[in-house]
Amino acid sequence: MIIIENAAIATVDAAGTEHPSGYVVVGDDGRIAEVGSGRCEQPGERIDGTGCLLTPGLINTHHHLYQWATRGLALDETLFGWLTTLYPIWGRLDAEIVGAAAGAGLGWLALSGCTTSMDHHYVFPRDGGDVLEAEIEAARAIGLRFHPTRGSMDLGRRDGGLPPDNVVEETDEALAATEAAIDRWHDPSPDAMLQIAVAPCSPFSVTTRLMEEAARLARRRGVRLHTHLAETDDEEEFCRAKFGCTPVEYAERVGWLGDDVWLAHGVHLDDTAIARLGATGTGVAHCPSSNARLGAGMARVRELLDHRVPVGLGVDGAASQEVSHLGAELRQALYTARLRGGPKAMDAREALRLGTIGGARCLGRQDDLGSVEVGKLADLVLWRLDGLGHEGIDDRVAALVFGPPARVELALVGGKPVVERGELANADEETLTRQAQRAHRRLLDATA
Ligand SMILES: [Zn+2]
Repeated sequence: MIIIENAAIATVDAAGTEHPSGYVVVGDDGRIAEVGSGRCEQPGERIDGTGCLLTPGLINTHHHLYQWATRGLALDETLFGWLTTLYPIWGRLDAEIVGAAAGAGLGWLALSGCTTSMDHHYVFPRDGGDVLEAEIEAARAIGLRFHPTRGSMDLGRRDGGLPPDNVVEETDEALAATEAAIDRWHDPSPDAMLQIAVAPCSPFSVTTRLMEEAARLARRRGVRLHTHLAETDDEEEFCRAKFGCTPVEYAERVGWLGDDVWLAHGVHLDDTAIARLGATGTGVAHCPSSNARLGAGMARVRELLDHRVPVGLGVDGAASQEVSHLGAELRQALYTARLRGGPKAMDAREALRLGTIGGARCLGRQDDLGSVEVGKLADLVLWRLDGLGHEGIDDRVAALVFGPPARVELALVGGKPVVERGELANADEETLTRQAQRAHRRLLDATA
């Protein structure tokens, strides 16, 4: 038994229960055994949370971990300009580079309060080795719960797509490799540390047949579906020119709306599209910092939430958002909603819901993750809020969301520490930094 006590607690349960000073008991099964106000009299290993806020661990719903190796490039480009600059570099990825980038990205995410992350990997160079295995090993080393997706691109430039032909796969080859990844890695159990989803990259890099077959494959195997959708005006124009419809109409046509689907971005959505996402239960991974960095626009999150669309937060790849800090994304989401809709458009607690239970819904893990409730997995974060940056903001949830990114005092995944006293529990930050720097140099030197 681990007992975290004397902490403010925001449970993020359906009633929004909070305890100004309370405790959480973690059982030996890695699940939450008790939550309450005041003191806990049970015996057990005690962790003093004085000066801290305890929340559910944050859930990252959109990322491309390999991009840690290509940060700081194409800094002033639109999405299409940025992609066409970076595709040739990504064509030289290999397992060692992806492993190092994933270690850095996941370590950094853990330090930012994330306990579960997805990854969307869609570049599989022919002689690059097993890049999916490399990032899965990196997640195991850090200790995070991991939902990697087997991505794919099969629409190269010669067929009217955006990526160069040498970074795309054959359609059937991509489908077979996706099913092999499910066979090898997917754990459907409620305690799963590793789940696979099916994730063709985007309408402008994937054929219609791959979209349709991917949806059939995912449903046959009972796994989730993910892709980029409605990120930019350029994509909207592409869809109108090539398919004669909007991105969401296209998604519906190829079988890609449903409560087993979550879409990255959803920035450019009209009222009809938002209503369709709501009616079908299709989720959205909101990535406000990436959308700002690429000047893509501001997602209509207020309207999405009003239509009961499951919305989670994503940092997106580190090459389109160099901060990649999920804790900081809470404030970015709040600010973005308010830039669009004024100060009533979102409050601190709604931002925290997006980063926790909203993300759990996107990943289909809402029964086991995303709130501090008895019986759920003990994926918990203890944020230190008694320093200069936060002291004096009496509302502790407001201090977390409105204040500067808070230090993670403790992060648990299934009751096991991944961060302790602001440092990674299972990996060395300096080593991760060195490995990522070497990967970055090797990739750029190989491309020069
Ligand atoms: Zn993305």
